[in-house]
Amino acid sequence: MNNDTICALATANGIGALGIIRVSGNEALSVVQKSFPAKNLEKQKSHTIHYGYFMDEEEAIDEVMLSIFLAPKSFTTENSVEIAFHGSPHIGKRILETLIKNGARMAKAGEFTLRAFINGRIDLSQAEAIADVIASENEASRKVAINQLKGGITNEISVLRTDLLNFVSLIELELDFAEEDVEFADRSALSGLLDKIEVKLNSLIESFQYGNAIKNGTAVAIIGKPNAGKSTLLNSLLKEERAIVSNIAGTTRDTIEEVLHIKGNAFRLIDTAGLRETMDEIEAIGVKKAKEKVENANILVYLADAATEDFSEDIEMIQSLLREDLKLIICATKIDEVIPTQYEMVENIFREAISHEFDFIKISAVENQNIQDLKNELSSYVEHLKTEENNVVITNQRHFEALKKSMDAVHKVKEAISFQISTELLAYELRNALEHLGEISGEVTNDEVLGNIFSKFCIGK
Ligand code: GDP
Repeated sequence: MNNDTICALATANGIGALGIIRVSGNEALSVVQKSFPAKNLEKQKSHTIHYGYFMDEEEAIDEVMLSIFLAPKSFTTENSVEIAFHGSPHIGKRILETLIKNGARMAKAGEFTLRAFINGRIDLSQAEAIADVIASENEASRKVAINQLKGGITNEISVLRTDLLNFVSLIELELDFAEEDVEFADRSALSGLLDKIEVKLNSLIESFQYGNAIKNGTAVAIIGKPNAGKSTLLNSLLKEERAIVSNIAGTTRDTIEEVLHIKGNAFRLIDTAGLRETMDEIEAIGVKKAKEKVENANILVYLADAATEDFSEDIEMIQSLLREDLKLIICATKIDEVIPTQYEMVENIFREAISHEFDFIKISAVENQNIQDLKNELSSYVEHLKTEENNVVITNQRHFEALKKSMDAVHKVKEAISFQISTELLAYELRNALEHLGEISGEVTNDEVLGNIFSKFCIGK
């Protein structure tokens, strides 16, 4: 770990009332001091704020406020200074250039957080949680990220890991006394602990489906024959959304997806670009195209025009799209155009033909009838993913993989015990399990994993 003094813009790069530049490293104070004649920074206490001009040699660049955080009581645990300036991107650029002239260098992506991790202030899952907190776009993802930042996942796992570690020590002690055929580690107590670990791991692994829905949203495909009412429904669903989120500039989301928020959860409506402009497009949506859409979806909302009579094509289409893990919602559309007996008949036709479980909702997008029922049904999908004891939810693919590997390792240890395999092998499998559990908090890690995690952060974090 080098101790270069690093600097970066911590606020968004654009015009604002204020901007903040962060400086961290052993020499942070002296680097900033060269541009801040107003006070002797070395003499200031930690957690104090100082007013003055930020200078590039003789030229005043801006009037600023400096916040000083002395090691180890800072985010990175190093000496740090935050410079609040008038939020012009040009001024920010000039200040950074001057700091570099003074001896700092630009921080790499995630380098402040990497230092916080390496210096032991936070563990790896907490570092990842910081990225998630910043990226959170709704209540559900914010809550989960904050819980992880508070150490939720690590706490759960480190308790298990410590217990397991005790056993490893005992088993290794047995290896030292191999000649004497003694058993320090009580095998049945070990089995009991492994059962407990298995239950915990299982619940964490299961929570990933929910975590994924929270973090990445639930993918919904809206399918139906031309004129079934897809774009009208889409507009109706997104109406309030547009009013709230009128123009978020520069979102990096895939542009062909619209996002709908229901009760704090995000739903990604797959490939809706086509729907918006299809009025004149002869959109005989082939089975192949529909399959592509549904392949990535968690929920299929199939629209059937209640005012028509023959549903054989619809049934065929639905059957060709179904998968076991797909939630199916069939909507009879345009119910304002037909009498109730007709759409009840439509429901019966589908119930007879389709064996996969589905919800049936009768809607009129034009008259806004029962659209709320559809929204409720969508949101109940996410609610059902919550398992009973989901106070800790896994949202991170890396954690999910590590948990699955830990689970495999635990199974192997159990096998080793039941087949009374050699103590050496048992110790080996136990170490393996410990290692995978340790990957989550970063107790066990390697440079490649770290590089991968922190490169996804933005600069200044
Ligand atoms: P798409 O091809 O599936 O996207 O269908 P559209 O949404 O473009 O709708 C086709 C036609 O049906 C349009 O003229 C819509 O105004 C009409 N339509 C859609 N939904 C309803 C509805 O709920 N009630 C009535 N009466 N007409 C609807």
